[in-house]
Amino acid sequence: MARYTGPVCRLCRREKMKLFLKGPKCDSMKCPIERRPYPPGDHGRGRVRESEYLLQLREKQKARRIYGVLEKQFRNMYEEATRQGGITGENLLRMLELRLDNAAFRAGWGSSRSQARQFVRHGHINVNGKRVTIPSYQLRKGDVVEVREKSRQMIVLRHNLDTIDRAIPPWLEPGADRFSVTVRDHPLREHIDVPVRESLIVELYSK
Ligand code: SF4
Repeated sequence: MARYTGPVCRLCRREKMKLFLKGPKCDSMKCPIERRPYPPGDHGRGRVRESEYLLQLREKQKARRIYGVLEKQFRNMYEEATRQGGITGENLLRMLELRLDNAAFRAGWGSSRSQARQFVRHGHINVNGKRVTIPSYQLRKGDVVEVREKSRQMIVLRHNLDTIDRAIPPWLEPGADRFSVTVRDHPLREHIDVPVRESLIVELYSK
């Protein structure tokens, strides 16, 4: 599955906020937002005419960038979210949260979503006892996600578990060891701590 491979910190600077895409660097003074909190490029500090469309576009881009989803896949997820009952924006965020790479990130195994995604791609993660290498795999209620037995000694994984102080959200139930989580329920909006106004994304796509 395709993914964005360009400079990552530019994405945060474009959104003028930390999106925490790079793990430990994001909490250090090396984070470019600390020094250059304005959009990249020659005209980054120029005047931009604020419009309703711009606000909507920025929210959509922010959500895509946080979860590492390209436009076409994001659009497809939106279409799926509209087909489900209830509030479309919340459906969309719920689907993003239920991605396998996001669950591996929420469990504290990856320092960033992109590292968690790499763990999935490299076959380190099982779902219900079977290896799944698709980062966008949609988890369901009751699914058990675990680090494969052979992968539990990985230095990077152990380092993350020892150093990352990330609270596991209520919709994930940690196992007795630190290497498994169970999807307790579908995530509710109040349990999704991403700084995105999903209603603006819905407004953008429903034009
Ligand atoms: Fe964003 Fe992290 Fe880069 Fe800072 S270090 S700009 S938070 S990705």
